[in-house]
Order: sequence, then structure tokens, then C-alpha cells
Amino acid sequence: MMTQEQLQVVVEAGRPARQVTGPVDVDDVSPAGGTTDLLAHLQTTLDVNQLVRIFDASVQPVVPHASLSYGNPVQDLQLEIGTAQQHSCTYRLTLRDEDLGNLVVTRATPFVREEVMLFENMLITLAFPLRNALMYQRALQSALKDPLTGLYNRSAMDSALHREVLLARRNGVPLSLVILDIDHFKSINDSHGHTTGDAVIKTLSARLADCTRKSDILARFGGEEFSVLMNNTDQFGARLLAERICQAVRAAPCRVPGCDIPFTVSAGVATLRVHESDRLFFERADAALYEAKRSGRDRVCLAQ
Ligand code: GH3
Ligand code: MG
Ligand code: MG
Repeated sequence: MMTQEQLQVVVEAGRPARQVTGPVDVDDVSPAGGTTDLLAHLQTTLDVNQLVRIFDASVQPVVPHASLSYGNPVQDLQLEIGTAQQHSCTYRLTLRDEDLGNLVVTRATPFVREEVMLFENMLITLAFPLRNALMYQRALQSALKDPLTGLYNRSAMDSALHREVLLARRNGVPLSLVILDIDHFKSINDSHGHTTGDAVIKTLSARLADCTRKSDILARFGGEEFSVLMNNTDQFGARLLAERICQAVRAAPCRVPGCDIPFTVSAGVATLRVHESDRLFFERADAALYEAKRSGRDRVCLAQ
């Protein structure tokens, strides 16, 4: 049950800052059937997008609006329903100091006071289901991420590879994979210790982020093994990117207090063939990496 201090819906734009504080009166029956029905409806999902869509559809008969948007930069969420119009109400949702994101509702005519109050009561009902859905999404995300670098882990990479192969095939566009491995990493660990080894891994992950595009999918799928999956990229583009990564790593050592640790990486590049399985695609990139190691390291090799 909500208590007075648990929820704050802060009205940000258009009017002086004002706080709407729970609990709501659950008998406050709106034309949509009241907040009890709304809560039951909102509790049917833990998917944030679906939750906001249910909320939007429930609000529509009570407070007709042209658009509703929800954003949560921390969890990289942005959902727009409808087309924004001139008049808007903007809310920042916080629950016990936890930022739940921003919600904006708009339409062509001004919102009247009674509507705003109804809307805010509905927002209060949204708060707990929204918090639960955000927590669930965070848990799902952390199961997909490597804690040291924040990049995708092996299992996320496998799913992404499967998905991107299907998409590339359906859309008839090229898909390329670069696999990278730090050269002589064991001797870095042996000479400088495991913590410095971890710093080198983090440095490589930063170089990868610097060299790639937002649409590229980065993963650390093994100890010092990384992959970059590039949609809409042919072998020429993928090779260029792999060369750029090797160059960036070579040019800037890992900085740890007291010393710089120069290191290099080797890379194997493959571009998806027609009818090739995910596994074979990966294995060809891996074989190319092996070739880069065998032929001297600190270089890029293309798959057969
Ligand atoms: P190569 O040039 O052939 O790749 O040689 P290498 O020494 O890099 O390869 P090898 O596979 O022999 O060694 C990999 C090392 O990576 C061994 C392992 O202890 C270390 N390692 C694996 N995961 C981690 C990690 O999370 N942190 C650190 N610091 N080291 C790790
Ligand atoms: Mg290795
Ligand atoms: Mg290695």
C-alpha cells in the first residue's frame, strides 16, 4: 500500500513545480472504471513498453490526448505513442528517490484542471507497476552483460548473432563479424598482476567503443576475447574497422598508476555467406583469428 512519502509525481513544465503525493483514493472512480481496475490491468505485464501502452490506452477515454511519451535515459528507454501537439503536461516520476523516468502527454487543446487531477491520480497508480517493470528489465539486462566491461557476454552475443544472421538474410544486406584476442595476455598478467590485466581488458573495451558505430554489437565473450558484429557491412568495411581497432590499441597503451602497459590485438574477419549457419560464420572468423596469431600477431586476417 502506498504511503504519503513513497511517491512523488513532480510536475515540471508549464506550471510552477508541484508535487502530487500518494496514496490515491482507490474508490476515486474515473470514467475508465477507477484506479483499482487500472492497477489490475497494469499488473498484467513486466514489459515496460507494454506497460506504458496499457497506461496510454487506459488514460485515453479519461483524458483524451494526441500523444504520450515515456523516457528513461538511465535504462536507455524512449517510447512515443501518437504525434505530439502544442499543449503538454510533463512529469518526472520518482519513487523514494528512485528516478522512474519522464512522462509527457500532449494534445491540440489545453488540459483542464479536472483532467489534470484525474491524470495525476492515474500516474500515481502507474508508479509501482512501472518500478517493478524497470527492476525486471535491469535484471534481464545484467544477465546479458559482462560486469567488467559492460559489454554483452557470450550468451547475449550468441543471441545477437542468431538474430542478425536472420535479419541480414531477410533484408539481403551484408553482415560481418570481427573476433579479437589480446596478444600474449598471459604474460601481461604474469608480469603485472591480474588487476592490471583487468585494466588492459577495460582499455580494449574502451578502444572498441571509440572505433565502432552505435549499430555495431560489441561483446566480451571470453577472458580476453571480444567480438564486433556489424550489420550492413561487407568484408571491405569490416577489415577497415578491424585495422582501425588494431591501430588504436597499438597507438595508446593501457594507463595504470605508475606505468603504461603497451599491448596489441589480433583480429579475424568473416562476412556471412549465403546459407551459412551462425556456427560456421563464427568458426570462420575464429579460424581467421588463429591465422592472424600464427602469422605473427598484431594484425588482421580475413576468413577464407
Ligand atoms: P595469444 O597471443 O596466443 O592470445 O596468447 P595469450 O597469452 O593471450 O593467450 P592464452 O589463452 O594463453 O592466455 C589467456 C590468458 O587470459 C590466460 C588467463 O589467465 C587470462 N584471463 C582470462 N580471463 C581473464 C580476466 O578476466 N582477467 C585477467 N586479468 N586475465 C584473464
Ligand atoms: Mg584467448
Ligand atoms: Mg590472447
